[in-house]
Amino acid sequence: MEAVLVVNAGSSSLKFQIFGIAGGGLQRQVRGKIDGIGTHPHLKASNADGTDLVDRALDSSTVRDLPTAIAEARNWLGGVDGIELRAIGHRVVHGGPDYVRPVLIDAAVLERLASYQHLAPLHQPNNLAPIRLAMDINPDVPQVACFDTAFHRGRAEHTDCYALPHAFYEDGIRRYGFHGLSYEYIAERLREVAPDIAGGRVIVAHLGSGVSMCALKDGRSVETTMGFTALDGLPMGTRPGQLDPGVILYLLTHHGMSAQEISDLLYHDAGLKGLSGISNDMRELSASEDPRASFAIDHFVHRCSLHAGMLAAALGGLDAFVFTAGIGENSATVRARIAERLDWLGAELDAKANDTGAPVVSRAGSRVSLHVIPTDEELMIARHTLALLRV
Ligand code: ADP
Repeated sequence: MEAVLVVNAGSSSLKFQIFGIAGGGLQRQVRGKIDGIGTHPHLKASNADGTDLVDRALDSSTVRDLPTAIAEARNWLGGVDGIELRAIGHRVVHGGPDYVRPVLIDAAVLERLASYQHLAPLHQPNNLAPIRLAMDINPDVPQVACFDTAFHRGRAEHTDCYALPHAFYEDGIRRYGFHGLSYEYIAERLREVAPDIAGGRVIVAHLGSGVSMCALKDGRSVETTMGFTALDGLPMGTRPGQLDPGVILYLLTHHGMSAQEISDLLYHDAGLKGLSGISNDMRELSASEDPRASFAIDHFVHRCSLHAGMLAAALGGLDAFVFTAGIGENSATVRARIAERLDWLGAELDAKANDTGAPVVSRAGSRVSLHVIPTDEELMIARHTLALLRV
């Protein structure tokens, strides 16, 4: 079967999926990942119905880093029967100021994507590693880069600039926004599951390890909570979200912290983890009786509701609110607490629907409808890849 491979490479995990191209559409065949890269690498993959194909610990001296993990995944994928690889689609965090849509990768594109490494130093180099490898090993297989930033690029210039002299904007210091593949998928999915609101004013809350929200008007991004980097906006697992830039200056001048130390603090030791001092994981915090855990959750809910208000203002009102990603899809408690803070906008939660994991969790007659829609960034990447293959 002809197939598209989707690759999402991070610093400690490598996720991959295979989609068969069947009857003009896409069918997920394999979902896999190697996680624990750098500590306890583990390979797990399953087929479309969830049956395990492999689930084993890997030798940490052989699978030491991302390149060796890619080689391991490649070996394993090589043994999957009946797959004829037509193209590879990659998640690439940053498309910089240039890329407003996915792009077929050649040497010039790769060079330009590498020039954005300073805009996303933790993500971009990892995203590009499997592209380089595949270019060397399978130069005839087309590769497509799909960006987290692209979906937000159509916003008006006065909404994606900072109040800095214009030269900084030209230099690329802009409010790019992220999680665009997730928002694009939800915008498409809304047209299928709730066509009456898909054209309206919708806030999508992507509440996962990374957290952001997007204001959609007629399925297009008009505002979002993240900015120049994926640090801005809402508190996340290990990132703080919105921070007065004066705090950074204070850390530099009064604490004598280096840029690297501040970067480590902001990317790895802040957010739910830093605030609670317990964990970056919402499941653990929700189960904990430690008051620091509930304090961190209180802060999370508070910031989510404030930013929802800001996005509702950007939309001039609100017709629907969508919860997605790990926390949004699975935590009825966090959903209920955020929904409670949206009542002034006209949202009325149906507690039973929320507790039982229904796709619509608002009461009949609620002025703002509340939805839970699982996101699928990989399917979005596969769709883009297939579309570019056909151009
Ligand atoms: P990523 O794909 O960026 O790693 P996810 O979208 O999987 O992130 O979200 C991870 C977050 O979702 C973690 O904070 C995790 O604790 C949370 N999560 C997953 N399941 C639940 C649950 N049942 N209750 C609360 N939080 C959950």
